[in-house]
Amino acid sequence: MLIVMKSGASESEIENVLETIEALGYRGHALPGENRTAIGLTGNRGAVDPAHFENLPGVAQAIRVTQPYKLISKDLRPEKSVIKVGNAEIGGSELAMIAGPCAIESREQLIETAETVVESGAKFFRGGAYKPRTSPYAFQGMGEDGLKMLVDIRDQFGLNIVTEAMDEHGVDAVEKYGDCIQIGARNMQNFSLLKYAGKTRKPILLKRGMSATLDEFLLAAEYIMAEGNYDVILCERGIRTFADHARNTLDLSIVPAVNRLSHLPIIVDPSHGTGHNYMVMPLARAGVAVGADGLIIEVHPHPERALCDGAQAMTPVQYLELFDEVRRIHAAMAVGSQRNEEKLLTVA
Ligand code: PEP
Ligand code: MN
Repeated sequence: MLIVMKSGASESEIENVLETIEALGYRGHALPGENRTAIGLTGNRGAVDPAHFENLPGVAQAIRVTQPYKLISKDLRPEKSVIKVGNAEIGGSELAMIAGPCAIESREQLIETAETVVESGAKFFRGGAYKPRTSPYAFQGMGEDGLKMLVDIRDQFGLNIVTEAMDEHGVDAVEKYGDCIQIGARNMQNFSLLKYAGKTRKPILLKRGMSATLDEFLLAAEYIMAEGNYDVILCERGIRTFADHARNTLDLSIVPAVNRLSHLPIIVDPSHGTGHNYMVMPLARAGVAVGADGLIIEVHPHPERALCDGAQAMTPVQYLELFDEVRRIHAAMAVGSQRNEEKLLTVA
């Protein structure tokens, strides 16, 4: 059930609808939009009678939802959600760039990388303290000591920190030290972890599972939102296919598919999506051109010495060039869409 409020509905009318939903034993989620607020109803097993809400003051419409998802949907919020991450935003008019090493290895490595990230003008810094490695014998990350180093990076460089949590302990730690909790591909369908992350008040970067369909991806986001955390950013990072020329197959077609159905921002990870340094730049360009709200890029001052994912890491020089190029593609697209809007206005 989706309850659309009239454009001038007051706070108390919205509150009244939320109280009515609660009294019926369900949960209400109010998402304010540019022109009106819509309220999603969750917790119902069967159909809910719209008659409960239709005649309440301030209600424009009560609509039954036939899709499997409710809160991620554009029906609830037609315009793109702009998610605040630390002191910056993802989903707004500016292209969001998250850059940094795969794993936190040392203070020196972080500082050297952060100098480049700041120079580029990016506002978000990445670096894993908890690493989901295929082999139990591979470097597993620096844990909480690494997170504390990220805090110093934020203090010194003013960058907002995006870092992965692999379990509930990690969610608590990243909530404490970071600005955005990354849920990795391998945990996209760890439903208890999604629910736990949904109870935090830090934004969540949700990476697509390596065999997840569009619906499974969106429903994973729905799990987080159903718990009351509406600040979810989606990330396409490549899926497993028969192709073996790249580490994964970056499925860029999911960007317009998500943009058609959901108000959530979506970014692209051409680093894990390809696994090869020489492929990162072309796929970063393509990700922006296909309409992503941002990119997440692995950068290492000395890729040959990286403890994790060195083959896909950009050098600082390559990364600076990459950001310069994709920024220009993004700007050209904004001009293009403004022209299209103007054309449509002229025709109308
Ligand atoms: C990462 O971003 O460091 C990572 C492990 O990504 P993914 O979950 O997409 O493999
Ligand atoms: Mn990595």
